[in-house]
Amino acid sequence: MDDKNPIINISDVLEYEFCPRFIYFIYCLDIPQHEELRFKVLEGREIHKKVTQVNRNYIRKKIGAQSREFDVFLASQKYHFKGILDEILFLNDGKAAPLEYKFAEYKDNLFRTTKSQLILQSILIEENYGKKVDRSFVCYVRSNHKLVEMDIRQSDVDKVKAEISDILNIIRTGFYPKTKKNINKCTDCCYRNICT
Ligand code: SF4
Repeated sequence: MDDKNPIINISDVLEYEFCPRFIYFIYCLDIPQHEELRFKVLEGREIHKKVTQVNRNYIRKKIGAQSREFDVFLASQKYHFKGILDEILFLNDGKAAPLEYKFAEYKDNLFRTTKSQLILQSILIEENYGKKVDRSFVCYVRSNHKLVEMDIRQSDVDKVKAEISDILNIIRTGFYPKTKKNINKCTDCCYRNICT
């Protein structure tokens, strides 16, 4: 990657939210995480294996979408990040929305990482399709394909954009970010022996 002009992944933002130091270790010191600890990658693989079993046409009609695109790779020139979206819905009101599939049960609220993932996907859709995105959807495959809707609020979009800016700053400058040590996070962390 060009350190002067990096393009990060959606998953980098989710990892940054878990612990900002991950970005430093991965990009500045070039120490990859152990593959088995990359929970989001593993989760992603599972979802893609199972997603074809979902009745996508039923979901499209339920939401009120005219058309959709599957497994779309998008990049933001403006904010320097990229990702693959499970599904983009083009809604009857002229707007668009991301639909993310989780091979998981719904536990009454969305994880922070899921919320951020949807916000990042919304930014990508708006930039690449020129359509307003003010809502998003998650389909929980293991809860009988339960569909959960989340509004995309400008304040949350701004927060995620600020996080991207912080991540790019770490990569470009080699800044060692502060983090609140958390026993639950640090105990199993693959960087715990080098993290000061
Ligand atoms: S040991 Fe803790 S603070 Fe250090 S990178 Fe891991 S989770 Fe973050």
